[in-house]
Amino acid sequence: MSKKLFIKTYGCQMNVYDSARMADVLAPLGYAAAATPEGADMVILNTCHVREKAAEKVYSELGRLRALQAARAAAGGRMVVAVAGCVAQAEGAEIMRRAPNVDIVFGPQTYHRLPEMVARASRAAGGRSAGVLDTDFPVEAKFDFLPEQAAPQGASAFLTVQEGCDKFCSFCVVPYTRGAEFSRPVADILAEARRLLAGGAVEITLLGQNVNAYHGEDADGRTWSLGRLIRALAELPGLARLRYTTSHPLEMDDDLIAAHRDVAVLMPFLHLPVQSGSDRILEAMNRRHTADRYRRIVGRLRAARPDLALSSDFIVGHPGESDADFRATLKLVADIGFAQAYSFKYSPRPGTPAAALEQGVVAAAVKDERLAELQALLAGQQQAFNRGFEGVRTTVLLERAGRHPGQLVGRSPHMQAVHVAAPAAALGTLAAVRIERAHAVSLSGRLESQVEHAA
Ligand code: SF4
Repeated sequence: MSKKLFIKTYGCQMNVYDSARMADVLAPLGYAAAATPEGADMVILNTCHVREKAAEKVYSELGRLRALQAARAAAGGRMVVAVAGCVAQAEGAEIMRRAPNVDIVFGPQTYHRLPEMVARASRAAGGRSAGVLDTDFPVEAKFDFLPEQAAPQGASAFLTVQEGCDKFCSFCVVPYTRGAEFSRPVADILAEARRLLAGGAVEITLLGQNVNAYHGEDADGRTWSLGRLIRALAELPGLARLRYTTSHPLEMDDDLIAAHRDVAVLMPFLHLPVQSGSDRILEAMNRRHTADRYRRIVGRLRAARPDLALSSDFIVGHPGESDADFRATLKLVADIGFAQAYSFKYSPRPGTPAAALEQGVVAAAVKDERLAELQALLAGQQQAFNRGFEGVRTTVLLERAGRHPGQLVGRSPHMQAVHVAAPAAALGTLAAVRIERAHAVSLSGRLESQVEHAA
């Protein structure tokens, strides 16, 4: 009889990808995906450390799970609870101490060892274990030990090509939780992409914490850049759309910029975080680029692909940020024009260099004001960008059912969410859609026809 596995995923697409791979690893042990944690044999919380109070949210979720574990035990069963991801990596021992109902804690680099961890947790006398903690950065490469990826659930699939980060931005925990930069070999990526396409995917998003730092080896030991990898993937039959995220401005090399000009399936949308428009703050953040260097890169990208839409990340209120620094950020946003963006108030992450800064801490009320002003500017840009599509015919990959009956939701080439009345049979297909209305963060349109993608 199959066992029920419920995975709750927090955070970025890399965690979404990791959760799917954890399910692949556990499938041979008889675990099948469940839609809810009630009655599950195993629950995994795949956590993210980027947002504020991430750890506290995990503890409150663990508190809720305690009641479900008790109900399962009363019915004569057992619910194994595991905490995975970046909070697990950063706070493993503390989680074991504070939440005795947790059976397993493991980091992002060790989930290929899950079967062994589950066996150890299950061997414990009386149905309770002393807890299994595995937050190593192992010498073996996780990807070499993962089973082949199961068929994708939808037309759009993620493919991790790179992990970890060597950039050490002062505010970021990723170098500590995900480890050093690692690029998967070219052959493994091409093989996984072929499997995804054979399983029905038509869009692939290449993932990496620093994806454009990709430097994987081919079978002859030669190093490939991301640009070269993109050109090779674009040749695969069945691939209609290719994307990559998340990029660092320092790694936007000539080859990658040229790929935006030459590769038709590379979609005209790029998430390129800048964080601040002030050189003083960029230096304090250890970003290793200036605001003007970012402007120049964007200029070259737009020369290569004039319809490229840009997205970015911003942090306001980094320690030391003056009003003039913040105005420089507003100026950069006004100069560039973003189609969408993520913006946050700075908050210290334990263990990062910025967290130790005691000078120049920006008052909470000032951070609130700055964030509101920045978000108003960004929202105006997003709405203007979206309004430019009213009346335009675009291609939409219909990915999921909408909230209303008879409605499907998909993504345009520029990553806008598009709502359209369409039959359920159109799910997973590319459709030509006439955009009728632009909303604050999405579009709605009319289905005109199905589109045959390049095969
Ligand atoms: S480049 Fe990105 S992942 Fe790496 S330290 Fe900076 S913000 Fe974190």
